[in-house]
Amino acid sequence: MKNSSNRLLLLLTVAIAIATGCQSPKPAPKACCATSAPACCPKMPMTCPFLATNCPAVTPAVPPTKESQAAMTPASALAELKAGNSRFVAGNPLKRNLPADVKATASGQYPFAVVLSCLDSRQPIEIVLDQGIGDIFSARVAGNVLNDDILGSMEFACKVSGAKLIAVIGHSNCGAIKGAVDSVELGNLTGLLGKIQPAMDQVPADVQPRNSKNLDFVDKVSEANVRLVMQQIRERSPILREMLDKGEIGLVGGMYDLSTGEVKFFDK
Ligand SMILES: [Zn+2]
Repeated sequence: MKNSSNRLLLLLTVAIAIATGCQSPKPAPKACCATSAPACCPKMPMTCPFLATNCPAVTPAVPPTKESQAAMTPASALAELKAGNSRFVAGNPLKRNLPADVKATASGQYPFAVVLSCLDSRQPIEIVLDQGIGDIFSARVAGNVLNDDILGSMEFACKVSGAKLIAVIGHSNCGAIKGAVDSVELGNLTGLLGKIQPAMDQVPADVQPRNSKNLDFVDKVSEANVRLVMQQIRERSPILREMLDKGEIGLVGGMYDLSTGEVKFFDK
């Protein structure tokens, strides 16, 4: 009687485990678990106390230091932004100890990149690139347009603070781009949207209709706008142009897809 009760209890436990998606963790590869990437460790639902895992505790990521920033290159900075976005899309962001990061960065910052992106609430750039406190400078404005203040901020980020990469990241279904293609006029917004309108000329004439109803056109203008801003950065800042020509910094564009969370960085 006791044996059959035990068997019943075991069967019930297994049935609950299967029903709740609680599975025996696969052993993580040794080399993989030695890294700090949480993606490497098997997912272990908290509702499975009877399935212990030997996966070691994950070491939190830390903000860049003067030494780690100096060791980075424009290429490695871009690689980290790409890796960060992949972690975000996969739902495996790095573990961070934010209060500790606040303390660690209180007396100085050594961000490895400066990113210009849109004001849009659905594109919080540090989150979608899985970057933490002290990792990147972030400038955000509707339509990720350029102005003298943002250009000056980029000069500070690269020339004074040692950032290795400038990234300009637009996004799909952008309201600012829609406003620009429809020639919306509203207070101070009118001037901002006027900065985007030259990008419309870069989109082939056969892309029709040329208004916000055509999302393909809107997204093509967004991408053209990113390329235009990249060109303006080079043309309007002798300081950044010189750093780019010497290979001290890199310049990259990209588009964030609101429906997938993915940033597609331009090849050139
Ligand atoms: Zn936008």
